[in-house]
Amino acid sequence: MQDCIFCKIANKDIAADIVYEDEKVLVFKDVNPAAPVHLLIIPKRHMPTLFGLNEDDSHLLGQVQMAAVRVARELGLGEQGFRLVCNCGREAGQEVMHIHYHFLAGRPFQWPPG
Ligand code: 5GP
Ligand code: ZN
Repeated sequence: MQDCIFCKIANKDIAADIVYEDEKVLVFKDVNPAAPVHLLIIPKRHMPTLFGLNEDDSHLLGQVQMAAVRVARELGLGEQGFRLVCNCGREAGQEVMHIHYHFLAGRPFQWPPG
């Protein structure tokens, strides 16, 4: 999508610090990290929110989680773990309207979130 910042990153029109990429999924560092490790995992295909998904996309969501586990293993996070968060919609705090999962690690996190 033309005006979408994450589509531009996926298309390499805008630079990002990419840590993993395959045909469907891209993982890159968040420009404003909220934790020592703060990555964003996106499907390359533009979809504004989770509400845009259909049954055919269930495999894609599996690929997103597999990318998270792959990166976590590469970063040696097997012991500490990580948090995977998808803000869906305005009230959940979604600002960029292209589905993305926050991958957070490197410090303890509170629950419930604010
Ligand atoms: P949201 O609030 O939509 O769940 O999260 C959007 C995230 O995208 C924020 O953590 C923000 O720092 C990050 N972000 C916004 N624009 C850019 C960008 O141009 N590059 C990168 N790497 N991250 C971005
Ligand atoms: Zn997009």
